[in-house]
This record gives sequence, structure tokens and C-alpha cells, in this order.
Amino acid sequence: MARPVGDLLRVRPGSGPVSLVDVDPRSTPGHDGGKTAAREAVAEVGERLAELQKQLYAEGRTGGHRRLLVVLQGMDTSGKGGAIKHVAGLMNPAGLRIHGFGKPTEQELSHDFLWRFDRDLPAPGYLGMFDRSHYEDVLVVRVHDLVPPQEWQTRYDRINAWECELAEQGVTMLKVMLHLSPGEQRERLLARLDDPTKHWKFNPGDVDERRHWHAYSSAYETVLERCSTDVAPWHVLPADRKWYRSWGLAHLLLETLCGLDLQWPRPELDVEALRAALADRAEGDAA
Ligand code: AMP
Ligand code: MG
Repeated sequence: MARPVGDLLRVRPGSGPVSLVDVDPRSTPGHDGGKTAAREAVAEVGERLAELQKQLYAEGRTGGHRRLLVVLQGMDTSGKGGAIKHVAGLMNPAGLRIHGFGKPTEQELSHDFLWRFDRDLPAPGYLGMFDRSHYEDVLVVRVHDLVPPQEWQTRYDRINAWECELAEQGVTMLKVMLHLSPGEQRERLLARLDDPTKHWKFNPGDVDERRHWHAYSSAYETVLERCSTDVAPWHVLPADRKWYRSWGLAHLLLETLCGLDLQWPRPELDVEALRAALADRAEGDAA
């Protein structure tokens, strides 16, 4: 049996300092078949994802508390949106709750940093996806000194405590960092400039952000070291190859859903009596 992709990409809780330079963003752990095979595999995995997501939804509709939250982090152009499009797109959108988090509004800033994420958690039975997350509050916030260090330094423990509470409430978290190289980011930004239909998503500020690459990498390394826990571990997904990124996320999601051991709910239905009632009704309709 192939090793689970989660095992290959997981940051072992408590294993000490993490070094992102040790992970090649062009590597494809767990997949050695190239682009076409990866795309075919994603389509196949998609059918199983759709079935499992339906079971999760069914469980939620019949009193279950469990839900799944996928947390996606990564530098600009790392493909968070593309991953959502390719992987979430394989399931029934009615059971999904997708939220992107940008710069907080005045109202959001007047609350604790976790407030807006708590507000947008998936309800029981739903599969939520966060495109950026509470981790920005120890990433962009740390890199740009948006709050004093005494404040952001307390947030790692607060995040761990919050995620622990969520786990107790039935939230399974799949945390994935899309690991991009600065060279690939440059290519993707240039490609956006070459395509007028992509200019709308070109933020000139993203070019300046490249100067902070090293600071972002360090901030990510701290997150991976301090916030990869047993209840909510982090995964580092190499993201320079878009097809591998989708393959990896689809497999991580499949493994996570399989880990829930979902079953179809078995409500008490007197199937025979209901069949008989329907037969009577049919006769009545015909009369
Ligand atoms: P995008 O993902 O391209 O739509 O960009 C969202 C932007 O919002 C990114 O530049 C993030 O760094 C920024 N952002 C997200 N969370 C925060 C936060 N807590 N404080 C400041 N900026 C944030
Ligand atoms: Mg952006």
C-alpha cells in the first residue's frame, strides 16, 4: 500500500524547528506519474470525495456535530484559489462553505483577532475552506509589525487553544501550506501581466511584498513549528507545479474524510409501512 500523502507532508508535532529550504517546492511527494496521470487521479479521487462529503452532510442533517475545515495558507499566487477551484469543484457546492479572508475591516478589527474566523466556521455537516485564515495574524501581521510583538507572540498559544476547543466541538482541521518558490512566483506574476483578463487580480503591492520573502518564510516556519499539533497538524504541500498541488490537496482531503469513518445515517423508518402508504396513495390518485 502506498504511504498516505498526509504522512509524507505532515509537520510532526513537537519535532522542533522547521526549515522550509529543506522542502523543494517543485517536488511531488507520493506521485511519480507526471501531469496527465495526476489530473486523471484527481478526477477519480473526486468521485470518492463527493460521496464522503454527502455522508458528512447527511450526518449533520441527522444530529451529528462533525464538520471539516480546510485551512489554506501560502504566498500570493501560490494557488490557494486554484486549489479550491479544482478540489472543491469536485463536490456538491451546497455542502461547502468557502471563505476568503483579506485585510480586516474596521468592524473586524474592533473584535479579538479570532472573532471573524469563529463567525465563519462551517456548521455541523459542512465542509469549510478558508482561503487565508487566522494564521495571517501571525504572518502578515508579524512581518509588517501591525501589532506589537508582545501581542502577536501570545497568538500561537491562543490559536492552539482555540483549535483544541474546535476539535472538541467536532471540527476536524486540515491545515495546508502551499509552498511556492520565489522564482515560480515571479513567473506567475509576469503571466498575470501578460494576460489582460488577469490584471484585475494583480495587486502592485504584491511586487513589494517579494522583498519580505525571507521574513515571511521565517514567520511560516514559526507557525509550522508552534502550531502543528496532534489535533490540528500542518502540512507543507509543494506548490510550484499546479497539477501536483491539486493532486496533493485532493489526496489530503480524501485521507482526512476517510479518517472520519463516515457511515450513512440509519434513521428508524418503517420502510414496509411507508411503502404500503405510498401504494394506497397511488390508488387514491388513480381514482
Ligand atoms: P488576497 O488573498 O490576494 O485576496 O489578499 C488578501 C490580503 O489580505 C493579503 O495581502 C493578506 O496579507 C491580507 N490580510 C489577510 N489577513 C490580514 C490581517 N489580519 N491583517 C492584515 N492583512 C491581512
Ligand atoms: Mg493577492
